[in-house]
Amino acid sequence: MQFALVNEDRCPPTPNVIGKCIGCGQEMIAKCGEIKIWHWSHKGKRKCDPWWEPETAWHREWKECFPADWREVIQWSAAGEKHIADVRNASGLVIEFQHSAISTQERTAREAFYENLIWVVDGTRLKYDISRFDRGSHDLRGAGRPGYFMTHWPSDYFPKSWIGCSKPVFFDFGGHDDDPDTRSPKAARGNLWCLLPESVDGQAVIAKLERCEFLDAAHRAAQSFPPHTILLEIAHAIAEHREAERRAEAQYLQRLRVQNSGRGRLRFFSK
Ligand SMILES: [Zn+2]
Repeated sequence: MQFALVNEDRCPPTPNVIGKCIGCGQEMIAKCGEIKIWHWSHKGKRKCDPWWEPETAWHREWKECFPADWREVIQWSAAGEKHIADVRNASGLVIEFQHSAISTQERTAREAFYENLIWVVDGTRLKYDISRFDRGSHDLRGAGRPGYFMTHWPSDYFPKSWIGCSKPVFFDFGGHDDDPDTRSPKAARGNLWCLLPESVDGQAVIAKLERCEFLDAAHRAAQSFPPHTILLEIAHAIAEHREAERRAEAQYLQRLRVQNSGRGRLRFFSK
């Protein structure tokens, strides 16, 4: 973790300092080595939140885009269950940054626990994740709204384990500057690709956001990405488009009928 209590203040890890866990109050050791990022670790092997994953430079870079008191925030459920949210903004929106693989069971549990949640997923974890997206992203079909796309086959673009979430999932294919394993071109760092929950007309909806746009929205609103509103708007636009097509086809058929009946009359008079 990035913070532990030292004399009741939230502090970053400092060599040879002992802290207390903000979650469980147990002793925390500051790990300040040269290989892993500096972090606090529970003394011994225990960890107090089973959902907590070891932090990478990718996590840390993202979390540091937000004010310190929004990071590593304890959240309680009405039943007394508690977890540590990676980031919770002033309006209560929780952002979970996920690098490791996650089981469907845990993903679903976290989505239920943090009701107002968005995921940010490290899209560079597996080599195939990037190449699959690179291949697919060139022929994404527009959804009639700038920056939005639709597909019948979201698993052609994104890892299967993230299909069918009940919360928006933002894929970050940009990797991390200091990570020697980052296989993604630097140009990919500019955008995030969001798979929205639910579907429209049987198709998944994908949104493309610039990183700065995402950060701006995540800082501002309680529900920064109102997926239901967006999906309703897209569904409405599709219905309107279909209605316009239907009208155009009806007009075309009507014109044909008029032309044909006109020809009939001409044949009649020419006899
Ligand atoms: Zn703890």
